[in-house]
Amino acid sequence: MSMIRVSENIPGPNALKVLQRDAKYSSPSYTRVYPLVIKQAKGMWVEDVDGNVFLDFAAGIAVNSTGHCHPNVVDAIKRQAELFLHFSGTDFYYELMPEVAEQIAECINSDYSWKVFFSNSGTEAVEAAMKLSRFNTGRQYFVAFYGAFHGRTLGSISLTASKKNQKIGFGAPFPGSVHVPYADCYRCVYGKKYNECNYECIQFIKDYVFAKSPGAENIAAIIVEPIQGEGGYIIPPKEFLKKLKELASEEDILLIVDEIQTGFGRTGKMFAFQHFDIVPDIVCLAKGIASGLPLGAMVAKSELMTWKSGAHASTFGANPVSLAAAKETIKLIKNEYVKNAAEVGDYLLSNLKNLENESEYVGNVRGLGLMIGIDFVVDKSSKKPNVRMRNELVDTLFKKGLLVLGCGESVIRLCPPLCVSKKEADIAIDILRDTILNYQKEKYRASVAK
Ligand code: PLP
Repeated sequence: MSMIRVSENIPGPNALKVLQRDAKYSSPSYTRVYPLVIKQAKGMWVEDVDGNVFLDFAAGIAVNSTGHCHPNVVDAIKRQAELFLHFSGTDFYYELMPEVAEQIAECINSDYSWKVFFSNSGTEAVEAAMKLSRFNTGRQYFVAFYGAFHGRTLGSISLTASKKNQKIGFGAPFPGSVHVPYADCYRCVYGKKYNECNYECIQFIKDYVFAKSPGAENIAAIIVEPIQGEGGYIIPPKEFLKKLKELASEEDILLIVDEIQTGFGRTGKMFAFQHFDIVPDIVCLAKGIASGLPLGAMVAKSELMTWKSGAHASTFGANPVSLAAAKETIKLIKNEYVKNAAEVGDYLLSNLKNLENESEYVGNVRGLGLMIGIDFVVDKSSKKPNVRMRNELVDTLFKKGLLVLGCGESVIRLCPPLCVSKKEADIAIDILRDTILNYQKEKYRASVAK
């Protein structure tokens, strides 16, 4: 597999059988956007059950960090699977747990000492961060951002504020969460322009959330994605996180950074917060941590881990097979892929940026490393999100053999495995340019105007 090959007849007969069974037995709550039924995947390439071959710029939602089935990762998994599959790190010890915890701690920041709580997923890492923050500060409230995605369990969903479908029908969220506007300079809530503002987004937290309700003294933590993922691949200005950290520190409020999507090399540094010159108090991790095996982690400054034995644990958290995969994944990312993510990410961004001039519907192309968003608008003056165009483009790209996902209202996100080469980036650039520029403009202009 090193070339796209997609039949006109997609989904093919084998895929259709799977789709039918899935419709009968799987929960309809999943968010599938096109009918890809995977048979196997290697590196950047994915083959479906009918022999169609795709180039993967979605990476299982930014998870397959080292590419599909990297031989070192697969070997490590096999070796561990022969030794033992589970023993529960909650009650027993095994070498891999402190070993991987140490690896992670070293990547976060060497000026502080860190402790790691392992979970199975991102949402559990966030839940752990919420519990630790409340326990440690004795305060109840959390400040989160509009557009944020922190997970879907009842604690983390109360911090999530990206799409209303994620909340409708589930009743009132866990009490104690307050949302404020994120530093989205492309569509600033305050109508300001980058470099011409007074960080109204920060000032609002100070003047209203801290000073009026719920009051700084009630707030345990502020949780922030250093780049909003699900919310639309939104990159805040350089000073935003720094100002947020200062604001939090002044009131003894913890800063939790959710690196679940941005972490482990994705942005061209090991963690995205490292672009912004801050050290958070707590970091939540998952997704790319183990190349696709389920693992999450909540990493806190050691001085904050004041909870006692039994306060929090998980039967499956720190699964040894996942940890074996994580150990190899972290090595690979540190040694080569973080650099590759920075280089190929820059290359992709600089090529795709031209689309802002070439297409009247591409409002903004933004990115850091291999986390790149193409934001479609109805017109450039209103910046109204062109939801329909984005959705149809994602589908057309699938039919042309390029796997991408959407995020935000009108953004195509590119989050390929971190091993993507410039040659593979060129293939994606050509397909993206061709598809976007040849779009049937009249049809979409008419349909969005309705
Ligand atoms: N936080 C962020 C930033 C995410 O992108 C996600 C998942 O997309 C989560 C939390 C939740 O992770 P999980 O789906 O593993 O629970």
